[in-house]
Amino acid sequence: MEQNNTTTRWTSSALFLSSPHDFSKTFETIDPRTGDVIASIAEGDKEDVDLAVRSAREAFDHGKWPRVAGSERGKIMLKLADLVEEHAEELTRLECLDAGKLLTVTRMVDIGTCGSTLRYFAGAADKIHGETLKMSRQFQGYTLREPVGVAGLIIPWNFPAIMFFTKVAPALAAGCTMVVKPAEQTPLTALYFAHLAKQAGVPDGVINVITGFGPTAGAAIASHMDVDMVSFTGSTEVGRLIMEASARSNLKPVSLELGGKSPLIIFDDADVDMAVDLAINGNFFNKGEVCVAASRVCVQEGIYERFEKKLADRMKKWVVGDPFDPRVNQGPQVDRAQYERVLSYIGHGKREGATVLTGGKPCGQKGYYIEPTVFTDVKDDMIISKEEIFGPVMCLMKFRTVEEAIAKANDTRYGLAAGVVTKDMDVANRMTRSIRAGVVWLNCYLVMDGDCPLGGRKMSGFGKDASMHALDKFLAVKAVVTPVYDSPWL
Ligand code: NAD
Repeated sequence: MEQNNTTTRWTSSALFLSSPHDFSKTFETIDPRTGDVIASIAEGDKEDVDLAVRSAREAFDHGKWPRVAGSERGKIMLKLADLVEEHAEELTRLECLDAGKLLTVTRMVDIGTCGSTLRYFAGAADKIHGETLKMSRQFQGYTLREPVGVAGLIIPWNFPAIMFFTKVAPALAAGCTMVVKPAEQTPLTALYFAHLAKQAGVPDGVINVITGFGPTAGAAIASHMDVDMVSFTGSTEVGRLIMEASARSNLKPVSLELGGKSPLIIFDDADVDMAVDLAINGNFFNKGEVCVAASRVCVQEGIYERFEKKLADRMKKWVVGDPFDPRVNQGPQVDRAQYERVLSYIGHGKREGATVLTGGKPCGQKGYYIEPTVFTDVKDDMIISKEEIFGPVMCLMKFRTVEEAIAKANDTRYGLAAGVVTKDMDVANRMTRSIRAGVVWLNCYLVMDGDCPLGGRKMSGFGKDASMHALDKFLAVKAVVTPVYDSPWL
């Protein structure tokens, strides 16, 4: 697809079921390289959410999707995976244009992951079964795992395509119908996916994409009496609002994948080059707009100076620029608000007395580009060490003992991810068991896989995305109990 700077009209109705009730209301999605408008998007609000939920409800209560054999659902999901792969080039370019992502990485990682996620859950769709219960006295029972109903899926802007299928694929496999709200910053690929889903044979009403803003469309999904569960990925602040909305409406179960401030703990016996690679990738991949970013890098004192020097040398070769250029390592932040937010954190770091080792300012003539920034002399109580920045900013710290490393790793209100680099198995075991986080990467970082659950603890939320744990969120367990007469034994 050509890069397109003209104002086009994209409506969810053109692509799928939920027609906005007021076609004149639109918002603009922006190219973060320039600040120019890419397209005008239909702005769904509460009334549109009502229409979408009604359509999803009808498809759930009377449609065939929850009722057909799992293998049939799987077949359609496999067809959708094929279609996503056939259209990978357009999808890749749309995603890069909307989110400022690197073209080469997006083709392989973001869009590549969509097909594999669909295939993983397509394979699970016909393997959903309960258990038999040998009960006390003269009763026996079994459990059914039934689709939970209409799912509300609210997704963020940092991995719009990956997040779409992370939520949609297990919901489809379970037999749910759904209302999906992409982030207002990055709605383009979700609309394209809805279009492909229709071509693949997903029945009308099963996937309803609503484009719009969080406080209107998102909040309407979270508080809707006819939405049976919500799976949300986004900030901790909004996660709290989602829970409150559920508590005030129908007590729907919610799953929250929220923010993080993840530690990467590097011990003296580490291979320093490898550790520097992990720290760079862990902080500057996707311009730091990564929930599991290793934003607190803690290095043991014996190798600290070597590590710092190698890191500074490596960052000199880091290229910030147009993400469509294959020589570039880092594109623009997703929008002006995020750009200003990151710069304001960099300002906090400087004012609080941290030292700028590299970067520390915006760059480029236009667009939302920021130099990759490494702060040293970071104290545990500084704002930059406590709050999620969600941009290309690394805090580099020093530690002496294993006990100190454990304390540093857990000294955060978040608990999403962590990394440990050491060759000593005793240290590795102690660290991996002591860190309170949803995933600990040992001698690697940012390794994601469809079969590896992702989800946090503490204020990073609860509930898992990816893996068979994700399927469970979309299934309700029902026990059926019956008496047994004249059984030869109890
Ligand atoms: P956000 O919370 O502002 O928005 C996320 C989504 O929620 C968007 O679709 C938005 O429109 C919607 N939303 C906003 N207000 C809402 C409301 N009142 N009710 C319902 N929905 C509402 O977050 P963001 O800025 O888009 O994303 C960044 C955050 O997401 C970071 O904190 C990051 O760590 C987190 N994140 C977490 C994971 C994970 O797996 N844990 C993955 C990606 C991003």
